[in-house]
Amino acid sequence: MLVEVGGLKLGWGQPIVIQSMTKVLTTNVEKCVKQVKELAAAGCGLVRIAVPTKADSEAFGKIVGKCNIPIIADIHFSAARAIEAIEAGAAKIRLNPGNIKDPEDIVRIIDAAKMHGTVIRVGVNEASIRNVRKKKVDTPMDERVHLMLKEMEYYVKFFEDRRFPFLVLSAKSVNTVRTIEVNRAIAEKFHYPMHLGLTHAGLPEDAKVSSSVAIGTLLAEGIGDTIRVSTAGDPVREVEIAKEILISLGCREREEPELIVCPTCGRCQVDVVRLAKQVKKTLKKIKKPIRVAVMGCIVNGPGEAADADVAVCAAKGKGFIYRGGEQIKTVPEEKLPDALAKEIEKHFK
Ligand code: SF4
Repeated sequence: MLVEVGGLKLGWGQPIVIQSMTKVLTTNVEKCVKQVKELAAAGCGLVRIAVPTKADSEAFGKIVGKCNIPIIADIHFSAARAIEAIEAGAAKIRLNPGNIKDPEDIVRIIDAAKMHGTVIRVGVNEASIRNVRKKKVDTPMDERVHLMLKEMEYYVKFFEDRRFPFLVLSAKSVNTVRTIEVNRAIAEKFHYPMHLGLTHAGLPEDAKVSSSVAIGTLLAEGIGDTIRVSTAGDPVREVEIAKEILISLGCREREEPELIVCPTCGRCQVDVVRLAKQVKKTLKKIKKPIRVAVMGCIVNGPGEAADADVAVCAAKGKGFIYRGGEQIKTVPEEKLPDALAKEIEKHFK
């Protein structure tokens, strides 16, 4: 099933869309718009903005008018905020129906979304599922997955009974395994587009692996249409990690240089790590795709070099330089960084 979020299609057969959130006060329209533009420039296709107060709703309308990508309103607790955001031009709203107590309020949101063609993401979050909170017991892992699924089934039925088909589903947990399991179960049961991510994943250095495992596993199984890597800090970092996940899975073309470096071992006879860092500095200035390999010896060196645009395969105190898979010269170790920089330059000529 496909939904259209401000002209951007989400669903079966469509590219996976990266999304993120602004992390400045929504009432600071200028800063918010600046951050949306930074995110869009980094490769983000959808940006979500928190709308907790009436003043934020007013600012939200102004922000939407100044941005050239679809904007999602992040709503909690308040039907009024949801309706204001829809009327202000939200392409989609993220709703956790579990924290909007009165079902009639959800019906009013559905009516407003129908009228404006707004998509609704039904977001079930492990930390806020009603049954877990009510029970206040240490629920075993599989039961938590079960409860999240039940919660999702309840809300999807609620929306379907009111003939609202423009849904995106998401179920999040801080736990990688539960996130994978609950999303598998939801994908099995429903055919709505799905938003993937871990919730509260942590600082980028801590969140990177767990998010990549959760999101990557599901995407590799064909589950997921839009992804968000939630990390504390600069949201552009979220987009960078998300792009790496998609590139690793072959869901997105690499737009920047790729540096292959062998892990090094007892066969190395040059300082591969130092050389790789020097090459990385050269590549930082380049904004086009190129594959460069820095390899420590002939075990895997020639093989990687054959697949790289530019490569070095090191030997004792020297390196064999390759361009386009052909070995073109032998250079002493101290001259390798400059020699590689020159070959990288030549590649683009
Ligand atoms: S390429 Fe050579 S030096 Fe590098 S890890 Fe492999 S065997 Fe070791």
